[in-house]
Amino acid sequence: MLHIGVDAGGTLVKIACEHEDGAISFRKFRSSDLTQAAEWVDAQPLRGNLCLTGGKAGLFQALIRREAGHVIEFEATCSGAKWLLCREGIALPSFLLTNVGTGTSIHYVDEHTHYRVGGTGVGGGTILGLSALTTGIDDFEEIVRLAAAGSRDDIDLTVGHIYEGATPPIPGELTASNFGRWLQTGGSRRKEDVLASVIGLVGETVATVSVHAAGQSGAACVLYIGSSFVRNELLRRVVAGYTELRGSRSLTLPDGEFSGAVGALLSARNADAQVPLACGPEGR
Ligand code: ADP
Ligand code: MG
Repeated sequence: MLHIGVDAGGTLVKIACEHEDGAISFRKFRSSDLTQAAEWVDAQPLRGNLCLTGGKAGLFQALIRREAGHVIEFEATCSGAKWLLCREGIALPSFLLTNVGTGTSIHYVDEHTHYRVGGTGVGGGTILGLSALTTGIDDFEEIVRLAAAGSRDDIDLTVGHIYEGATPPIPGELTASNFGRWLQTGGSRRKEDVLASVIGLVGETVATVSVHAAGQSGAACVLYIGSSFVRNELLRRVVAGYTELRGSRSLTLPDGEFSGAVGALLSARNADAQVPLACGPEGR
């Protein structure tokens, strides 16, 4: 192993590794298993550097034997996202980066600069917490699997529901009130339906905040990253639908949830030599 970048977040520890042959591989641990993640990193025969980022980077450093470099989380996330875009052959002059992690953080990024535009406490932690509270299910994969079979129709109030056949001034399929129909219809208690509405609430909130931020900062495209999207087709669909309905372009990336870890890996690499980590197909 050559270099390792670690993004120790509020829920998950994401790790990006560069191998001797230039290949990049990824790994994930729960943040509640921080010791296990640290033991794994300690066990790697590392020829190069180790760099850490994320809110739990300090805790992670205390658990490992070697002294690691450190990079600020937003710096790492933006540079990692740019690298992953380049790996996919996507060139964007500027974009808004919305990281739906435990919470949601929004950044403006272009060739020369990046800055944090804002965020919302509604994010992946909300999917887990609200799902557990309403249905008792706290396993992310099960939440996502059940939500995919759910219907929001008896839970969320759309503009069309309010206008009841009359022509609404805005598209009828827009949500007027998340969970706003639940009392009116007697409410569905099907777990699938409730979970679909939880994901709808989170997706529509992050997309709405992102579209406003994109408008203010002049970015034409929103790149959505974060582990909340992992195998979560429903969240992707809600977010893309809302973003595009409001006139922005929506993008997600393979391995986008590893942006911070890739950014840390780039820092680990640059500490060694000023050679940028190749992002073409050979750099995969
Ligand atoms: P952070 O950097 O804050 O840890 P992530 O980008 O890793 O955030 O996203 C965490 C969110 O991803 C969780 O809140 C949850 O909604 C979702 N998630 C995806 N996979 C898992 C998993 N295996 N365990 C727990 N949460 C997961
Ligand atoms: Mg994170």
